[in-house]
Amino acid sequence: MATFEGLASLQPFSVPLGAYAKLSPDQLARATRYGIERTYTCATRLYRQSERWADLYIVLAGAVQTVWSDAINGEEYFITLEPGEFSGELNLLNQRETLIGARALEGSTILRIPRERLREFLIAETDISEQVVWTIVQRRQWFVQIGVGGLVMIADGESGDSERLARFLAANSYPFRSIDLSRSSESRSVAQERGLQEADLPAVISRKWMLKRPQLCALADKLGISEDVREGITWDVLVVGAGPAGLATAVYAASEGLRTLVLDNYAAGGQAGTSSRIENYLGFSNGVSGAELAKQAQVQAEKFGATVAICRSVTGIDCSEEAFLVGLNDDKAVAARAVVIATGAKYRKLNVAELERFEGAGIHYSATPVDVRTCVGQPIVIVGGGNSAGQAAMFLSARASHVHMLIRGPRLSSTMSDYLVQRILASKAITLHPRSEVVSLEGTTHLSHVTWQSRATGEKTRLETEHLFVMIGADPCTAWLRDCVNLDANGFVRTSSGSEDRGPFETSVRGIFAVGDARSGSIKRVASAVGEGSVVVAGIHRYLGTFGA
Ligand SMILES: Cc1cc2nc3c(=O)[nH]c(=O)nc-3n(C[C@H](O)[C@H](O)[C@H](O)COP(=O)(O)OP(=O)(O)OC[C@H]3O[C@@H](n4cnc5c(N)ncnc54)[C@H](O)[C@@H]3O)c2cc1C
Repeated sequence: MATFEGLASLQPFSVPLGAYAKLSPDQLARATRYGIERTYTCATRLYRQSERWADLYIVLAGAVQTVWSDAINGEEYFITLEPGEFSGELNLLNQRETLIGARALEGSTILRIPRERLREFLIAETDISEQVVWTIVQRRQWFVQIGVGGLVMIADGESGDSERLARFLAANSYPFRSIDLSRSSESRSVAQERGLQEADLPAVISRKWMLKRPQLCALADKLGISEDVREGITWDVLVVGAGPAGLATAVYAASEGLRTLVLDNYAAGGQAGTSSRIENYLGFSNGVSGAELAKQAQVQAEKFGATVAICRSVTGIDCSEEAFLVGLNDDKAVAARAVVIATGAKYRKLNVAELERFEGAGIHYSATPVDVRTCVGQPIVIVGGGNSAGQAAMFLSARASHVHMLIRGPRLSSTMSDYLVQRILASKAITLHPRSEVVSLEGTTHLSHVTWQSRATGEKTRLETEHLFVMIGADPCTAWLRDCVNLDANGFVRTSSGSEDRGPFETSVRGIFAVGDARSGSIKRVASAVGEGSVVVAGIHRYLGTFGA
């Protein structure tokens, strides 16, 4: 088992099973066919922390020491790998910077599998691939827990901007630690040393750079998660949106040899990524968190060779050219032979004064661990009667002191799955307020009170609470399509009825497909989004003429 130095200060510290799995002697023997073996007579650096394109190193004898240092105090942390263990994590599947460097110790024999052969290795040796992929996902989850890589956010109390950055990093599974200027002397001295004024916060500091009050996309560019989307390439398939539908499309398209690019304006996972626990997705009898499902799906797509670029917002599409030209937020354009619209839907906002002032300062649109951490022991309010509101109510009721659930209708049953309705009605920690609407919000820098009114009696209730969860449905993200394809009256994309030469997911324009929540008439569920994303690839092949009709 790998050994750890310098980590005792990082709490909570429990290495998940599988984060340092070993290959068996038989697997090691097979791996040697893909790599180059070398014995190091002295300690030698294999790659630095923050390097791109690092190869895979497997310890055959001796040890590899992996190391990273904290961006602020420079403290170094070491994890030493034993024979059978291997270096790397999610960066092995993409071109992003490594979070952690590696060096071979004196006398060690190490197998290097170069990037050019890594995909072939992972596809041909399925049992090893399974183990490597499982291990690197576990490793990343643990790295996120303890902040490996040394990225530090200096927060300014509970401001909306700090929360926005923390939420974005968490949604993208990017490890960081946060120190708060208002609470820690460490952050005050760091701010002083770096010449940071209060107006510069929140700031994000890595070993190589510092960003003051960064825009999310500027941060994504620095972290490399936006990928270098080069112009001049024509992709076989461009998938717009990395929710369940887009990621499923990418897995099937890339695994069937199509050159696939996925663009998302925020993070992989879409709406599902914000769900605390999805309990009705086939195969996960104990439920699965949206974040985990998203991470696994992204890794799966990347393993097959898809490129997933984050913070790439699609702003328009030119359907008149033979290869479609899709415009991005940074004025770049991407060309593709086929386009899949998988942009899903975006949560609706409450029609109440001052809502925007409290967004990021008490108003939540999801119930992820980032949202929940400040709610512990406090009363909270949830608005909405759909499944997402129901799940949030169950999840939060175990943490908040009490959950008040407001719905416009007289009862829950018409809009929510029965298993959730039963649990909510049985819970002593949840009070359901039927026929109720939020009428005002109060607070200074943070939400402090929510008032709602009963539509039946007119009675108003004013509750002291710092947290309002708004879960009242979503509208399609299709404005960028403008006049290119036919939309229905509510803005969802119309697809064909499945005639012989056009599959069920082709839009009014040949070569442009739509799947998942953005599609008119779709069932708004994870499983149906995934199903549509998987099936659409047959239609793409048919259109591209590579698969035969
Ligand atoms: C909190 C919550 C809990 C849920 N729980 C469940 C559940 O338990 N079971 C279940 O079956 N369903 C559940 N759902 C519904 C389910 O998550 C959705 O049906 C599913 O995510 C739809 O997938 P999708 O890929 O079509 O779209 P989305 O998940 O909406 O993904 C679309 C993606 O496209 C991106 N995007 C949008 N516009 C652009 C653009 N212009 N450029 C680039 N990217 C863009 C978005 O950022 C997003 O990542 C839940 C939804 C929510 C909100």
